[in-house]
This record gives sequence, structure tokens and C-alpha cells, in this order.
Amino acid sequence: MERTLILLKHDAVSKGITGRIISRFEDAGLKITAMKMVWADEDLAGQHYKLDEAWAKKLYDRTKKVFDEEGKEMPYKDHMHMGQKIQGWNKKFLQEGPIIALVLEGPHAVEVGRDMLGHTEPRQAAPGTIRGDFAKLESYNLADKKQRVLRNIAHGSDTPENAEHEIHTWFTKEELHEYAKDLDKHF
Ligand code: GDP
Ligand code: MG
Repeated sequence: MERTLILLKHDAVSKGITGRIISRFEDAGLKITAMKMVWADEDLAGQHYKLDEAWAKKLYDRTKKVFDEEGKEMPYKDHMHMGQKIQGWNKKFLQEGPIIALVLEGPHAVEVGRDMLGHTEPRQAAPGTIRGDFAKLESYNLADKKQRVLRNIAHGSDTPENAEHEIHTWFTKEELHEYAKDLDKHF
């Protein structure tokens, strides 16, 4: 059975929409096997948002394309410079206030979780997705202009391998629960 780590970031907590988001996951049939409110410190935020060169490269290339189209100069020297900057904003955002961390379990939990969240940039997230419904006006353009992270409501693991790693970053073995749900007999 697959598991995914979801973080309801502080924008979701401060908007008071965490219950509605959690309901969507329950409605989809995903099983909550761990859940807690955490106010992350620098160490935990750093464990979650590690600087990954491939991620920084993708981020840089995507942003450069838009800047080139608008005839604007990139404010970063290279992809690692940009990656460090965004990673720093991400870490700061995780420490802005308490967040809710949860582990969801079910067939294809990682894929289903990310589908339900929608596109990373809420502006591009389809209506009906969590980011599309709760943060539609947020965009890369706005965030980058204001020199802050994209406030996109939630994090969801992107691969089953990363999910297992992230689950152990946020939860101890004792906090991960096993129990039967009605739907289980069909999986
Ligand atoms: P995710 O897996 O959909 O959360 O996206 P990524 O792993 O690529 O990025 C991690 C987080 O960094 C995102 O959820 C955003 O909050 C933030 N982020 C990503 N790209 C950008 C960007 O171009 N500008 C800004 N300001 N923040 C970004
Ligand atoms: Mg990611």
C-alpha cells in the first residue's frame, strides 16, 4: 500500500480551511494514518526542503523562459543561486506558524494526492483542485515580485520513495498508525 506526506502549510491554517481540505482527502477514500500540528524549527524545515540541483535547474529554466519572453534580466546569477533563494523562502514559510502534517494511505496515494492539490502555481491549478479552489490568485509572478515564496496551501510528496523519506522526517514510528477501513477489503 502506498503512502504520501501532505503538509497543510501555514497559509491553509491561517485561512481556517484545513478541515475542508482534510475532508476532501477522506472523501476520496484516502486513509489518514498519522496527523499532527507542528511548528517547525530551522532544522526540521531544512530537512524537508533540501537544495536539490535538478530541482533548481528546472525552476531556473522555467523562470528564465518567462523573463526572456518579457525581455527582462534574471535577478539570479545561476540556477543554484535561484534555488538557494527559493529554498530559503520555503524554509522561512514553514516556520511562519504551525502547520498540519498528515500521512495518507491508499492505492496510488502519491499520484492521487498531487492530482488533488493541482498545479504548483495556483494560477495554473484547475478549479476543483485544492490549490485551484483555495489560492487561485497566487502566481509565480506575484511571489517573485514580492521576493517571497509561492503561498500554495499544501505540500504533497512527489514520488513514493520521497514520500517514505518525508514521512520519517515528520513522524516517529509510534505516530504512524495501522488500522482497517471499510474500503480496505476491496484493495
Ligand atoms: P511542489 O512539489 O508542487 O510543491 O513544487 P516544488 O517542489 O517545485 O517547489 C516547492 C515549493 O517552492 C512550491 O510549493 C512553492 O511554494 C515554491 N516555489 C516553487 N517554484 C517557485 C517559484 O518560481 N517562485 C517562488 N517564489 N516560489 C516557488
Ligand atoms: Mg515538490
